Amino acid sequence: MSGVAPIRLAIVGLGLIGGSLARALREAGVVSNIAGFDRDPEQIRIALELGVIDRAATDAADAVRGADVAVIAVPVLATAAAVAACKPGLGPNTILTDVGSTKQSVLDAVISVFGEIPPRFVAAHPIAGTEKSGVAHAKADLFRNHRLILTPHPAQDAQALATVEALWTAVGARVVKMEATRHDAIFAATSHLPHLLAYSFVDMLDQLDGADADIFPNAGGGFRDFTRIASSSPRMWHDILRANAGPVAKLLRKQIDELNGLLQMIETGDWDAMRTVFERARAARERHLTRIE
Ligand code: NAP
Repeated sequence: MSGVAPIRLAIVGLGLIGGSLARALREAGVVSNIAGFDRDPEQIRIALELGVIDRAATDAADAVRGADVAVIAVPVLATAAAVAACKPGLGPNTILTDVGSTKQSVLDAVISVFGEIPPRFVAAHPIAGTEKSGVAHAKADLFRNHRLILTPHPAQDAQALATVEALWTAVGARVVKMEATRHDAIFAATSHLPHLLAYSFVDMLDQLDGADADIFPNAGGGFRDFTRIASSSPRMWHDILRANAGPVAKLLRKQIDELNGLLQMIETGDWDAMRTVFERARAARERHLTRIE
Protein backbone atom coordinates (compact mmCIF):
# COMPACT_ATOMS: atom_id res chain seq x y z
CA MET A 1 0.00 0.00 0.00
CA SER A 2 2.81 2.37 -0.87
CA GLY A 3 1.82 6.01 -0.70
CA VAL A 4 -1.30 5.24 1.35
CA ALA A 5 -1.58 6.47 4.95
CA PRO A 6 -1.32 3.60 7.46
CA ILE A 7 -4.72 2.34 8.48
CA ARG A 8 -6.34 1.93 11.87
CA LEU A 9 -7.09 -1.78 12.18
CA ALA A 10 -9.55 -3.66 14.39
CA ILE A 11 -9.46 -7.43 14.90
CA VAL A 12 -12.46 -9.22 16.41
CA GLY A 13 -11.39 -12.78 17.26
CA LEU A 14 -7.77 -12.82 18.45
CA GLY A 15 -6.88 -16.36 17.43
CA LEU A 16 -4.30 -17.87 15.10
CA ILE A 17 -5.57 -16.09 11.99
CA GLY A 18 -6.64 -12.75 13.47
CA GLY A 19 -3.40 -12.59 15.46
CA SER A 20 -1.25 -13.56 12.47
CA LEU A 21 -2.91 -10.96 10.25
CA ALA A 22 -2.35 -8.27 12.90
CA ARG A 23 1.32 -9.25 13.18
CA ALA A 24 1.80 -9.45 9.41
CA LEU A 25 0.18 -6.07 8.72
CA ARG A 26 2.22 -4.43 11.47
CA GLU A 27 5.43 -5.92 10.09
CA ALA A 28 4.46 -4.73 6.59
CA GLY A 29 4.19 -1.20 8.01
CA VAL A 30 0.65 -0.61 6.78
CA VAL A 31 -1.13 -0.12 10.12
CA SER A 32 -0.88 2.79 12.54
CA ASN A 33 -2.84 1.24 15.39
CA ILE A 34 -4.44 -2.14 16.15
CA ALA A 35 -7.40 -2.57 18.50
CA GLY A 36 -8.51 -6.08 19.36
CA PHE A 37 -11.33 -7.94 21.05
CA ASP A 38 -11.93 -11.60 21.78
CA ARG A 39 -14.63 -13.19 23.88
CA ASP A 40 -11.84 -15.09 25.67
CA PRO A 41 -10.08 -12.61 28.04
CA GLU A 42 -6.98 -14.82 28.06
CA GLN A 43 -6.48 -14.28 24.30
CA ILE A 44 -6.74 -10.50 24.82
CA ARG A 45 -4.18 -10.66 27.63
CA ILE A 46 -1.72 -12.68 25.50
CA ALA A 47 -2.29 -10.44 22.44
CA LEU A 48 -1.40 -7.35 24.50
CA GLU A 49 1.56 -9.04 26.17
CA LEU A 50 2.99 -10.16 22.79
CA GLY A 51 2.40 -6.74 21.23
CA VAL A 52 -0.01 -8.20 18.67
CA ILE A 53 -2.49 -5.42 19.48
CA ASP A 54 -2.00 -1.89 20.83
CA ARG A 55 -5.36 -1.58 22.56
CA ALA A 56 -7.60 -4.13 24.26
CA ALA A 57 -11.18 -3.16 23.47
CA THR A 58 -13.97 -3.70 25.98
CA ASP A 59 -16.25 -5.25 23.35
CA ALA A 60 -16.52 -5.73 19.59
CA ALA A 61 -18.22 -2.35 18.97
CA ASP A 62 -15.46 -0.62 20.96
CA ALA A 63 -12.82 -2.44 18.89
CA VAL A 64 -14.18 -1.32 15.51
CA ARG A 65 -15.05 2.26 16.53
CA GLY A 66 -12.78 4.61 14.55
CA ALA A 67 -11.23 1.76 12.54
CA ASP A 68 -10.58 2.03 8.81
CA VAL A 69 -10.68 -1.75 8.44
CA ALA A 70 -12.34 -4.21 10.84
CA VAL A 71 -11.54 -7.91 10.49
CA ILE A 72 -13.88 -10.61 11.80
CA ALA A 73 -11.68 -13.63 12.63
CA VAL A 74 -13.98 -15.92 14.62
CA PRO A 75 -15.19 -19.50 13.93
CA VAL A 76 -17.58 -19.28 10.97
CA LEU A 77 -20.79 -20.01 12.90
CA ALA A 78 -19.94 -17.16 15.30
CA THR A 79 -19.83 -14.68 12.38
CA ALA A 80 -23.40 -13.40 12.76
CA ALA A 81 -22.97 -12.79 16.50
CA ALA A 82 -19.60 -11.08 16.00
CA VAL A 83 -20.86 -8.87 13.15
CA ALA A 84 -23.98 -7.92 15.15
CA ALA A 85 -21.76 -7.01 18.10
CA CYS A 86 -19.58 -4.81 15.83
CA LYS A 87 -22.53 -3.06 14.18
CA PRO A 88 -23.05 -0.24 16.73
CA GLY A 89 -19.39 0.79 16.40
CA LEU A 90 -19.06 0.70 12.61
CA GLY A 91 -18.61 4.07 10.90
CA PRO A 92 -19.99 4.79 7.39
CA ASN A 93 -16.53 4.38 5.86
CA THR A 94 -15.30 1.40 7.85
CA ILE A 95 -14.45 -1.58 5.67
CA LEU A 96 -15.66 -4.80 7.27
CA THR A 97 -13.96 -8.02 6.19
CA ASP A 98 -13.50 -11.60 7.41
CA VAL A 99 -11.20 -14.63 7.14
CA GLY A 100 -13.73 -17.47 7.40
CA SER A 101 -13.11 -20.83 5.74
CA THR A 102 -16.61 -20.95 4.24
CA LYS A 103 -17.93 -18.05 2.22
CA GLN A 104 -21.64 -18.45 1.43
CA SER A 105 -22.44 -19.00 5.11
CA VAL A 106 -20.51 -15.84 5.98
CA LEU A 107 -22.43 -13.80 3.37
CA ASP A 108 -25.69 -15.24 4.78
CA ALA A 109 -24.58 -14.30 8.32
CA VAL A 110 -23.88 -10.73 7.21
CA ILE A 111 -27.32 -10.54 5.54
CA SER A 112 -28.93 -11.81 8.76
CA VAL A 113 -27.46 -8.80 10.58
CA PHE A 114 -27.87 -6.00 7.99
CA GLY A 115 -30.76 -7.32 5.87
CA GLU A 116 -28.38 -7.11 2.86
CA ILE A 117 -24.66 -7.27 2.24
CA PRO A 118 -23.21 -3.81 2.88
CA PRO A 119 -21.11 -2.65 -0.11
CA ARG A 120 -18.11 -2.18 2.19
CA PHE A 121 -18.18 -5.80 3.40
CA VAL A 122 -15.41 -7.84 1.74
CA ALA A 123 -15.43 -11.64 2.13
CA ALA A 124 -11.96 -13.20 2.28
CA HIS A 125 -10.34 -16.56 3.07
CA PRO A 126 -6.59 -17.03 3.53
CA ILE A 127 -5.42 -20.45 2.36
CA ALA A 128 -2.88 -20.71 5.14
CA GLY A 129 -2.98 -21.92 8.69
CA THR A 130 -1.84 -24.62 11.02
CA GLU A 131 -3.51 -27.13 13.32
CA LYS A 132 -2.73 -24.78 16.25
CA SER A 133 -5.29 -22.34 17.67
CA GLY A 134 -4.90 -19.16 19.67
CA VAL A 135 -2.99 -15.91 19.40
CA ALA A 136 0.12 -17.39 21.05
CA HIS A 137 0.75 -19.27 17.78
CA ALA A 138 0.25 -16.22 15.54
CA LYS A 139 3.04 -15.69 13.00
CA ALA A 140 3.77 -12.64 10.85
CA ASP A 141 4.82 -14.77 7.86
CA LEU A 142 1.85 -17.16 7.93
CA PHE A 143 0.33 -15.83 4.71
CA ARG A 144 3.52 -15.23 2.69
CA ASN A 145 3.32 -16.98 -0.70
CA HIS A 146 -0.09 -18.45 0.14
CA ARG A 147 -3.29 -17.84 -1.75
CA LEU A 148 -5.98 -15.52 -0.47
CA ILE A 149 -9.44 -15.93 -1.92
CA LEU A 150 -11.78 -12.95 -2.22
CA THR A 151 -15.43 -13.66 -3.05
CA PRO A 152 -16.88 -10.33 -4.23
CA HIS A 153 -20.67 -9.98 -4.04
CA PRO A 154 -23.02 -8.08 -6.41
CA ALA A 155 -23.20 -4.94 -4.21
CA GLN A 156 -19.43 -4.87 -3.69
CA ASP A 157 -17.79 -1.44 -3.31
CA ALA A 158 -14.75 -1.48 -5.64
CA GLN A 159 -12.58 0.69 -3.42
CA ALA A 160 -13.23 -1.49 -0.34
CA LEU A 161 -12.34 -4.57 -2.38
CA ALA A 162 -9.14 -2.90 -3.63
CA THR A 163 -8.12 -1.90 -0.10
CA VAL A 164 -8.55 -5.43 1.26
CA GLU A 165 -6.70 -6.84 -1.74
CA ALA A 166 -3.83 -4.37 -1.09
CA LEU A 167 -3.65 -5.39 2.59
CA TRP A 168 -3.32 -9.08 1.76
CA THR A 169 -0.81 -8.34 -0.98
CA ALA A 170 1.21 -6.34 1.56
CA VAL A 171 1.51 -9.44 3.77
CA GLY A 172 2.77 -11.54 0.85
CA ALA A 173 -0.44 -13.35 -0.14
CA ARG A 174 -1.40 -14.06 -3.75
CA VAL A 175 -4.95 -12.80 -4.21
CA VAL A 176 -7.47 -14.76 -6.28
CA LYS A 177 -11.14 -13.84 -6.81
CA MET A 178 -14.05 -16.24 -7.30
CA GLU A 179 -17.72 -16.68 -6.48
CA ALA A 180 -18.63 -17.77 -2.96
CA THR A 181 -20.43 -20.96 -4.05
CA ARG A 182 -17.50 -21.99 -6.25
CA HIS A 183 -15.15 -21.36 -3.32
CA ASP A 184 -17.26 -23.57 -1.05
CA ALA A 185 -17.38 -26.43 -3.58
CA ILE A 186 -13.60 -26.29 -4.08
CA PHE A 187 -12.71 -26.17 -0.39
CA ALA A 188 -15.21 -28.88 0.47
CA ALA A 189 -12.98 -31.09 -1.71
CA THR A 190 -9.48 -29.95 -0.81
CA SER A 191 -9.87 -29.01 2.84
CA HIS A 192 -13.18 -29.82 4.52
CA LEU A 193 -13.47 -33.48 3.43
CA PRO A 194 -9.80 -34.26 4.30
CA HIS A 195 -10.30 -32.88 7.81
CA LEU A 196 -13.43 -34.98 8.27
CA LEU A 197 -11.58 -38.08 7.02
CA ALA A 198 -8.59 -37.45 9.32
CA TYR A 199 -10.82 -37.07 12.38
CA SER A 200 -12.82 -40.14 11.40
CA PHE A 201 -9.72 -42.28 10.84
CA VAL A 202 -8.10 -41.42 14.19
CA ASP A 203 -11.42 -41.91 15.99
CA MET A 204 -11.84 -45.35 14.39
CA LEU A 205 -8.31 -46.40 15.39
CA ASP A 206 -8.82 -45.13 18.92
CA GLN A 207 -11.76 -47.50 19.35
CA LEU A 208 -9.81 -50.60 18.33
CA ASP A 209 -8.66 -53.14 20.93
CA GLY A 210 -5.04 -52.41 21.73
CA ALA A 211 -5.21 -48.81 20.52
CA ASP A 212 -3.31 -47.50 23.55
CA ALA A 213 -0.94 -50.41 24.09
CA ASP A 214 -0.02 -51.40 20.54
CA ILE A 215 -1.44 -49.30 17.73
CA PHE A 216 -0.63 -45.68 18.56
CA PRO A 217 2.78 -46.42 20.15
CA ASN A 218 3.87 -48.06 16.89
CA ALA A 219 2.59 -45.36 14.57
CA GLY A 220 5.23 -43.91 12.26
CA GLY A 221 5.75 -41.00 9.91
CA GLY A 222 2.94 -41.98 7.55
CA PHE A 223 0.44 -41.89 10.40
CA ARG A 224 1.78 -38.50 11.53
CA ASP A 225 1.59 -37.02 8.00
CA PHE A 226 -1.87 -38.40 7.31
CA THR A 227 -3.40 -37.35 10.63
CA ARG A 228 -1.72 -34.01 11.47
CA ILE A 229 -4.91 -32.12 10.67
CA ALA A 230 -6.90 -34.21 13.17
CA SER A 231 -5.12 -32.08 15.81
CA SER A 232 -6.99 -29.00 14.52
CA SER A 233 -9.59 -27.21 16.63
CA PRO A 234 -12.74 -29.40 16.81
CA ARG A 235 -14.84 -26.26 17.40
CA MET A 236 -13.55 -24.59 14.26
CA TRP A 237 -14.02 -27.70 12.11
CA HIS A 238 -17.47 -28.42 13.53
CA ASP A 239 -18.43 -24.94 12.36
CA ILE A 240 -16.87 -25.34 8.90
CA LEU A 241 -18.46 -28.74 8.23
CA ARG A 242 -21.83 -27.52 9.43
CA ALA A 243 -21.60 -24.29 7.41
CA ASN A 244 -20.68 -26.19 4.22
CA ALA A 245 -22.65 -29.38 4.85
CA GLY A 246 -24.23 -29.76 1.38
CA PRO A 247 -21.03 -29.75 -0.72
CA VAL A 248 -19.20 -31.90 1.85
CA ALA A 249 -22.00 -34.51 2.03
CA LYS A 250 -21.97 -34.81 -1.77
CA LEU A 251 -18.24 -35.55 -1.80
CA LEU A 252 -18.38 -37.81 1.24
CA ARG A 253 -20.87 -40.02 -0.62
CA LYS A 254 -18.38 -40.24 -3.51
CA GLN A 255 -15.57 -41.06 -1.09
CA ILE A 256 -17.65 -43.82 0.53
CA ASP A 257 -18.30 -45.27 -2.95
CA GLU A 258 -14.55 -45.16 -3.66
CA LEU A 259 -13.78 -46.91 -0.35
CA ASN A 260 -16.46 -49.51 -1.00
CA GLY A 261 -14.85 -50.11 -4.38
CA LEU A 262 -11.47 -50.68 -2.71
CA LEU A 263 -13.06 -52.96 -0.12
CA GLN A 264 -14.59 -55.03 -2.89
CA MET A 265 -11.20 -55.25 -4.66
CA ILE A 266 -9.64 -56.54 -1.43
CA GLU A 267 -12.43 -59.01 -0.74
CA THR A 268 -12.43 -60.38 -4.28
CA GLY A 269 -8.64 -60.28 -4.60
CA ASP A 270 -8.76 -57.86 -7.54
CA TRP A 271 -5.25 -56.59 -6.84
CA ASP A 272 -4.68 -55.27 -10.37
CA ALA A 273 -7.67 -52.96 -10.00
CA MET A 274 -6.38 -51.76 -6.63
CA ARG A 275 -2.95 -51.09 -8.05
CA THR A 276 -4.53 -49.14 -10.93
CA VAL A 277 -6.26 -46.88 -8.36
CA PHE A 278 -2.96 -46.30 -6.55
CA GLU A 279 -1.12 -45.54 -9.80
CA ARG A 280 -3.82 -43.12 -10.93
CA ALA A 281 -3.76 -41.37 -7.54
CA ARG A 282 0.02 -41.11 -7.44
CA ALA A 283 0.14 -39.71 -10.99
CA ALA A 284 -2.53 -37.14 -10.11
CA ARG A 285 -0.64 -36.06 -7.01
CA GLU A 286 2.67 -35.77 -8.90
CA ARG A 287 0.97 -33.78 -11.66
CA HIS A 288 -0.43 -31.29 -9.15
CA LEU A 289 2.42 -31.39 -6.63
CA THR A 290 3.78 -27.87 -7.13
CA ARG A 291 0.31 -26.45 -6.61
CA ILE A 292 -0.38 -28.75 -3.64
CA GLU A 293 2.79 -27.63 -1.92
P1 NAP B 1 -8.95 -19.59 16.84
O1 NAP B 1 -7.46 -19.59 16.95
O2 NAP B 1 -9.74 -20.60 17.59
O3 NAP B 1 -9.48 -18.11 17.22
C1 NAP B 1 -10.81 -17.71 17.13
C2 NAP B 1 -11.07 -16.81 18.33
O4 NAP B 1 -12.35 -16.15 18.15
C3 NAP B 1 -11.17 -17.58 19.66
O5 NAP B 1 -10.34 -16.97 20.63
C4 NAP B 1 -12.65 -17.45 20.00
O6 NAP B 1 -12.91 -17.49 21.39
C5 NAP B 1 -12.98 -16.10 19.43
N1 NAP B 1 -14.41 -15.85 19.29
C6 NAP B 1 -15.42 -16.73 19.06
N2 NAP B 1 -16.60 -16.08 18.96
C7 NAP B 1 -16.33 -14.76 19.15
C8 NAP B 1 -17.13 -13.59 19.17
N3 NAP B 1 -18.46 -13.64 18.94
N4 NAP B 1 -16.53 -12.40 19.40
C9 NAP B 1 -15.20 -12.32 19.61
N5 NAP B 1 -14.39 -13.41 19.61
C10 NAP B 1 -14.95 -14.61 19.36
O7 NAP B 1 -9.39 -19.74 15.31
P2 NAP B 1 -8.57 -19.39 13.98
O8 NAP B 1 -7.80 -20.61 13.58
O9 NAP B 1 -7.88 -18.09 14.15
O10 NAP B 1 -9.78 -19.25 12.95
C11 NAP B 1 -10.49 -18.04 12.81
C12 NAP B 1 -11.22 -18.03 11.49
O11 NAP B 1 -10.25 -18.21 10.44
C13 NAP B 1 -12.24 -19.16 11.33
O12 NAP B 1 -13.39 -18.66 10.70
C14 NAP B 1 -11.56 -20.15 10.42
O13 NAP B 1 -12.50 -20.83 9.63
C15 NAP B 1 -10.66 -19.25 9.59
N6 NAP B 1 -9.45 -19.89 9.07
C16 NAP B 1 -8.70 -20.69 9.86
C17 NAP B 1 -7.54 -21.28 9.35
C18 NAP B 1 -6.67 -22.17 10.20
O14 NAP B 1 -5.88 -22.97 9.68
N7 NAP B 1 -6.74 -22.07 11.53
C19 NAP B 1 -7.14 -21.02 8.03
C20 NAP B 1 -7.93 -20.16 7.26
C21 NAP B 1 -9.09 -19.59 7.78
P3 NAP B 1 -13.45 -18.90 22.03
O15 NAP B 1 -12.29 -19.84 21.91
O16 NAP B 1 -13.81 -18.51 23.42
O17 NAP B 1 -14.61 -19.32 21.18
